[in-house]
Amino acid sequence: MLRRVTVTSLRAEVSDLLGRLIRIDTTNPPGNETAAAELLRDYLEANGVECELYARVPERANLVARIRGTGAGPSLLLLSHTDVVLADPREWSVPPFSGELRDGEIWGRGALDMKGQVAANAVAIASLARDGYAPAGDLVFAATADEEVGDGFGLQWLCEAHPDAVRTDYALNEGAGDRLELGGAVYYLCSTAEKMTAPFTIRVHGRSGHASMPGIADNALVKAARLIERIAAYRPEPQLQQEVEAFLRTVLGEIPHAASVVERARALHPTAAELVEPLLAPTFAPTMITASQKRNVIPALCEISVDCRLLPGQHPQRIEPMVRAVLGGDVDYDLVWDEPQGGTRSALDTPLWDAVEMFVSESEPGAHAVPICTAGFTDSHWLREAFGTVAYGFFPARSMPPEVAAQLIHSADERVPVDDLELGVVWLRQVARAVCG
Ligand SMILES: [Zn+2]
Repeated sequence: MLRRVTVTSLRAEVSDLLGRLIRIDTTNPPGNETAAAELLRDYLEANGVECELYARVPERANLVARIRGTGAGPSLLLLSHTDVVLADPREWSVPPFSGELRDGEIWGRGALDMKGQVAANAVAIASLARDGYAPAGDLVFAATADEEVGDGFGLQWLCEAHPDAVRTDYALNEGAGDRLELGGAVYYLCSTAEKMTAPFTIRVHGRSGHASMPGIADNALVKAARLIERIAAYRPEPQLQQEVEAFLRTVLGEIPHAASVVERARALHPTAAELVEPLLAPTFAPTMITASQKRNVIPALCEISVDCRLLPGQHPQRIEPMVRAVLGGDVDYDLVWDEPQGGTRSALDTPLWDAVEMFVSESEPGAHAVPICTAGFTDSHWLREAFGTVAYGFFPARSMPPEVAAQLIHSADERVPVDDLELGVVWLRQVARAVCG
């Protein structure tokens, strides 16, 4: 029997699907992503796309759907996550799980991060299936659980337990797509690399004692203060990595010396300086401290947590001697690294990059695509590490300025323009045909 699907416009279809996704509360923790996965499965199956649910625990399912390739062409994964972060309704001007359409925008938790892209991915693959699209390589859709917390229910688990479901040559994920105007020209950012998060703890040792007689003790908190100041003041030597070089070549027309990059970028536009500054060197931000639990007890131990972000390719073992040199030898401490995450990159000269560039120049004449290494990290690193997938973060946002989007993500009144959702569907349909054939 021929399946009959009512086709309105893709714009209406993606708006409706996003509204329904937002109305399913997938706040993580606890997640409860299965309800979202089932909604997407029902929608995709009704459009003739083959679906499979994969769940480590029943309430936290991941959905993988695909249009099978007819030959041995390259495969492409449209990756997204269905969980969202907490929303406090008291901070919002609409209920955060309403999915309401207002003034051309859809409001609700996850509209930008990232149920909007989930919906656009789903509508792209569903509409291609309706068109009878028969790619040479597999076109795969994955809406995964547990990206925001990362407790091992989502893509990490899929890569380990069901590698065949998510192994592809190319992948598109969240991470960039922002439209920037710098020095009179227009650029769209595409994330091709991510810094590594490599947090560590400095455990400063002293000797406890009664706080009424400080002279008989050795206060670990006071000694820690010296180390905090040193690590916070530290500015490692800047260096240029391939993504920053490519960015500078496009926006400045040349690659300045590493030491003058921030200044040159600022002269073009303050945003350009903000973008490149954290990408020139590792960063060290002391963020938490614990010492005595009682006011009248001088602490024998003080722990400083440092949020450290390394450049792709740098590793804690190589950075540690540098950190120890900065901390100095006059305070007794231990340095303990937590498990690092991320810090991967994909090549820039790929058919996926060509597709990004072509889309940008066609959809906005005169605009250029520029690669960027993002200071944070996404699930893309699991794919790069497990399968060597070329993974980029790119979902074009033409209507909403990046500074507005940045304020709304993980915050109140998150919303996405329907124009950007529609642009996203156009992009995804185009990139599938460009990559999978
Ligand atoms: Zn996200």
